[in-house]
Amino acid sequence: MAKNKKPTEKGPDVILIGAGIMSATLGILLKELQPDITIDVYERLDHAAAESSDAWNNAGTGHSAFCELNYTPENEDGSIDPSKAIKIAESFEQSKQFWSYLIQQGFLRDAPNFIRSIPHMSFVWGADNVDYLRKRYDALQQNYLFHGMQYSEDPAQLAHWMPLVMTDRNPAQPVAATRMDIGTDVNFGALTRAMFRRLTDMPGVNMHFAHEVRDLWRSKTLGGWKLKVENVTTNKEREVQTDFLFIGAGGGSLRLLEKSDIPESRGFGGFPVGGQWLKCTNRDVIERHQAKVYGKASVGAPPMSVPHLDTRMIDGKRELLFGPYAGFSTKFLKSGSYMDLPKSIQLSNMAPMLMAGLHNIPLTRYLIQQVMQSPDDRMAALREYYPDARREDWELEIAGQRVQVIKKDEEEGGVLEFGTEVVSAADGSIAALLGASPGASTAVSIMLDLLKRCFPEKLATVEWQQKLTDIIPSYGQVLADNPELGIALRKQTSEILGLGEYEYTSDSAQ
Ligand SMILES: Cc1cc2nc3c(=O)[nH]c(=O)nc-3n(C[C@H](O)[C@H](O)[C@H](O)COP(=O)(O)OP(=O)(O)OC[C@H]3O[C@@H](n4cnc5c(N)ncnc54)[C@H](O)[C@@H]3O)c2cc1C
Repeated sequence: MAKNKKPTEKGPDVILIGAGIMSATLGILLKELQPDITIDVYERLDHAAAESSDAWNNAGTGHSAFCELNYTPENEDGSIDPSKAIKIAESFEQSKQFWSYLIQQGFLRDAPNFIRSIPHMSFVWGADNVDYLRKRYDALQQNYLFHGMQYSEDPAQLAHWMPLVMTDRNPAQPVAATRMDIGTDVNFGALTRAMFRRLTDMPGVNMHFAHEVRDLWRSKTLGGWKLKVENVTTNKEREVQTDFLFIGAGGGSLRLLEKSDIPESRGFGGFPVGGQWLKCTNRDVIERHQAKVYGKASVGAPPMSVPHLDTRMIDGKRELLFGPYAGFSTKFLKSGSYMDLPKSIQLSNMAPMLMAGLHNIPLTRYLIQQVMQSPDDRMAALREYYPDARREDWELEIAGQRVQVIKKDEEEGGVLEFGTEVVSAADGSIAALLGASPGASTAVSIMLDLLKRCFPEKLATVEWQQKLTDIIPSYGQVLADNPELGIALRKQTSEILGLGEYEYTSDSAQ
């Protein structure tokens, strides 16, 4: 077969496909753990973080589960399940520790202010939703990670917290909100590009922009994996080899994972959901909002379509966005091909994909309704959060593309997942990241999980354990159960990341 006819030389220890935040995080972790490791990065576009990790392609929310209601589902008995929220809050603390380490090492000198403090608020209206938010607040107060959160049903207090949201709102409507002052807005694009600049400076690391990985297979002669890579500028193809391959290609990961043909890849499918924002162009309006305000998703909406009115800080400029509005496209990447979805369908994932479709009729209905939206419909959705919004102050922006994971399931045949999934071979020589949520905020904990699966022996050594504790001081500990450590680390990371002084308080204002 053509694939094996050209003998290739032994390549780098590691190849990372894609220059998004996941590859950047893994690359730096590996280089810190084993400085002599050699790494090549292949990226199909001409610069880093041009897909989902770019600032305007995502919402830049440092997901800590302070304001995202989809992380605290209501149980059938009416109680709130806080477990996912606690896990996400812990993961974000790990990310802050990792970024603090990068700053302390001087790695992020050219990414000033990639993270800013911004209050995270949840806002709901209607008696049932108010009841839910109060119960959610009570449930989260059981863990110190959420102490400092404030809850209020007082319209005057809410008007003080979020004037745009409360002005000209129906006074008869019951409303409630929570506020957490230590929320953050993160420019993941600036952060990713700075991490790659640092990686490129390290000995043994080579970046190959405008190089698309077209195919991959196990190398019989050299061990590890062989890749067919095309230089998209010259259209020249070549083969390269590596011992460990990470497919961090975002929406492009599923197709590459399928090509690997590892048994663990079988039965996975992908369902693309596009995104759009309304971006505010009126400086006076932008200046009147100072928060990320998350609401409740409509019935049938995927969890990542929870509407939010967000203050952003992008390249030193304050911005305001509302969305996301979901869109449907068969592309798996913003700059991908309309053939991405059809080409991803194989014999092994056809049944799970069909069954997931059958079990998600409300989602299909929701997406059709979203795609059919007129500019007036979009303004109507915005006015639920900002009643005085004027159409001339807002323009439409295209956000990043997400590929939701479809998985084989014993009972249902196939299920649609809204989280992320690391898929790796039993021998640990290859791993891929599928899915998108909670995403960039949890890149560090996702990559720590990957190290556990793919480098178990090295991870068990004293050297790697010690180094990981230097990088992420809470590594190996359950932060949620360790308030003393958690509070001390929050204080430390807030200071290093320039987020202001963190004052722990167990009192919460009502
Ligand atoms: C609308 C939206 C809102 C979001 N909001 C948030 C948020 O508020 N907070 C948060 O934490 N996360 C958020 N996310 C999720 C977050 O953006 C992603 O989880 C994260 O950016 C994924 O990073 P990545 O490195 O896996 O992928 P990407 O950043 O997409 O990088 C993948 C790279 O691989 C390259 N590539 C693809 N195929 C190939 C190939 N064959 N060969 C070579 N290169 C290839 C691509 O060009 C791309 O540069 C959001 C995502 C979307 C779409």
